[in-house]
Amino acid sequence: MDALPEFQLLRPRTLGEALAARTAHPGSQLIGGGTDLLVNIRRGIVAPPVLLDMTGVSELTQISADEQRLEIGASATLVDVAAHPGVVTNYPTVAQAAHGVAGPTQRNMGTVGGNLCLDTRCIFYNQSTWWRAANNHCLKTTGDVCYVAPKSHGVCFATFSGDLAPALLVLGAQIDLAGPGGRRTLPLADFYIGHARHDTASGDGKNYLALAPDEIVIAVRAKHTPRLRSGYDKIRIRRSIEYPVAGVAVALTRDDDALADLRVAFTGTNPRPVLLEGTAALCGSPLDERVLAGLDALVRDQIMAMKTTFTPGHYRRRVAGVLARRLVARLWAQGSEIRDQGSGLATA
Ligand SMILES: Cc1cc2nc3c(=O)[nH]c(=O)nc-3n(C[C@H](O)[C@H](O)[C@H](O)COP(=O)(O)OP(=O)(O)OC[C@H]3O[C@@H](n4cnc5c(N)ncnc54)[C@H](O)[C@@H]3O)c2cc1C
Ligand code: SF4
Repeated sequence: MDALPEFQLLRPRTLGEALAARTAHPGSQLIGGGTDLLVNIRRGIVAPPVLLDMTGVSELTQISADEQRLEIGASATLVDVAAHPGVVTNYPTVAQAAHGVAGPTQRNMGTVGGNLCLDTRCIFYNQSTWWRAANNHCLKTTGDVCYVAPKSHGVCFATFSGDLAPALLVLGAQIDLAGPGGRRTLPLADFYIGHARHDTASGDGKNYLALAPDEIVIAVRAKHTPRLRSGYDKIRIRRSIEYPVAGVAVALTRDDDALADLRVAFTGTNPRPVLLEGTAALCGSPLDERVLAGLDALVRDQIMAMKTTFTPGHYRRRVAGVLARRLVARLWAQGSEIRDQGSGLATA
């Protein structure tokens, strides 16, 4: 195992102190629980001279979740989010996603800010220094080739694997950022820019967040939608502790026999969490095979899983589609009879 390099650790107590420290140390990096960042430092992937520990900024640890709104500070821990009664009752997809992250140790330490800003992952990147040097590095670090897609023309396809983002995306969440110039708020969907397209200057697996170098994530917020049913599910190699092979969040509204609203978002597939486009066209009728086939088609079109993990990309895409189908069917049937037993829409 590689030794940790030298770094200075600063522990701001207020957001003002954190912003001042960020300005005073332009090469610094924020650290939440360090459950991902410290691994990357140990592997020589990044070597920030100064770490700003955000866990002591108590004003960012607040969680409020009632029948009006959800607001979670960036320094709240995953274990607190997963166990918060207001989150469990009113925003179950968020509680389930937080509970599904890694194992108990990481959830005790890991923060919402760290999870939302989680670095993208790839089998050619999450390796030791000597491994990457032996393979001449790839373009996410200091090399000039993508080994996953050698003809990528400078685009990196490293995968976003955070569990919270899709759960918050289906709630239409917004994210609050603070920097030396003040605060700003973005739709969470716009925070993730890893579209990995060749034809635009949009981001990719290397440049995946709309976060300026001196900005800090301070909170994430969502409005409550009455009657919205939501949930989260994922598949991973080891159920006890592992990044998702694929994860899916679903939120839907059922009006009697009609699907009135459907939102589906994925993680573990693309260089960004993907809020599926086009689901509104599937609404208006009961949940039947037409709707599920339409959902499959949207997944095939928008989920772009590449060979960035040991699990083949085409398998991750299939897993994503199956998870989505099952979760949609389960939420549709929640609290009511399954009317069409012959349609294959049994609860999972
Ligand atoms: C074995 C193992 C399994 C794992 N499995 C999962 C999994 O299943 N699902 C999952 O989602 N994650 C998983 N993780 C990753 C990690 O544990 C979680 O994502 C965790 O929530 C990260 O939060 P953290 O506070 O520890 O982030 P850190 O490691 O502290 O930071 C992560 C990134 O966020 C940045 N950051 C932190 N706070 C802020 C802020 N306020 N504003 C802006 N940037 C910030 C850091 O600079 C860094 O780039 C796993 C990790 C391990 C080691
Ligand atoms: S997708 Fe390509 S450029 Fe990105 S980390 Fe993997 S090998 Fe490197």
